[in-house]
Amino acid sequence: MKVLVIPCLNDNYSYIIYDENTKIACVIDPSESRPIIDAIKTNNLNLKYILNTHHHYDHVGGNKELKEEFNTKIIGFEGDKNRIPEIDILVQDKQTWSKDNFEIKIFHIPGHTIGHICFYFPKDKIIFTGDTLFSLGCGRIFEGTHKQMFESLNKIKSLPPETLVYCGHEYTLQNSKFCIKYDSENNKLKDKIIEISKKIEKGLPTIPSKIQDEIDCNIFLKANDLQSFSKLRDLKDNF
Ligand code: ZN
Ligand code: FE
Repeated sequence: MKVLVIPCLNDNYSYIIYDENTKIACVIDPSESRPIIDAIKTNNLNLKYILNTHHHYDHVGGNKELKEEFNTKIIGFEGDKNRIPEIDILVQDKQTWSKDNFEIKIFHIPGHTIGHICFYFPKDKIIFTGDTLFSLGCGRIFEGTHKQMFESLNKIKSLPPETLVYCGHEYTLQNSKFCIKYDSENNKLKDKIIEISKKIEKGLPTIPSKIQDEIDCNIFLKANDLQSFSKLRDLKDNF
């Protein structure tokens, strides 16, 4: 499987994952249709599936137009069936959904929204985390509780350390400023900041990250208990 990173809107990322032999593709969280249509055509891909992590507009904005253009099937959480536009295939927590050489394990990871899910490709060791786990950060808690978000992050944290993490936004540099403020002696974090700064300077995405990097550097994953996690999340809201 190959992944294309598609910048959308201001700071969103959509991703196209495709089988290099069959050219069959899925898009994750199409914020808007135009950049996706261009990438599909440029790479001669067959876009068969849209995977939505949650219902926010900057993650589903392209659903309708992509479906019209490519007759794409839209996959989302069963609990969000009334708020994911044009949804076709309902998935649930811990389900494995397989089609066309894609094998995708679904995890329900509430917190940012109550219906948020992530898409884990175990054979490829790739995860799409939407607005739950960001590189060096985590999503704001809009609908769920701190406890839900903490538990959701712990689920992601337990995946193989070499798993590549593709998240919904380019927030990494801004997130790093919060991490280094409260974890100023962390040398792995310092190295990571140098690495991401170079990428940003060159206009490159800082994504993907790796689970192990996030465990080492992301202050929200370093929180060992709910209380310290909640305190950090509240501090970040006002940072
Ligand atoms: Zn969101
Ligand atoms: Fe978002």
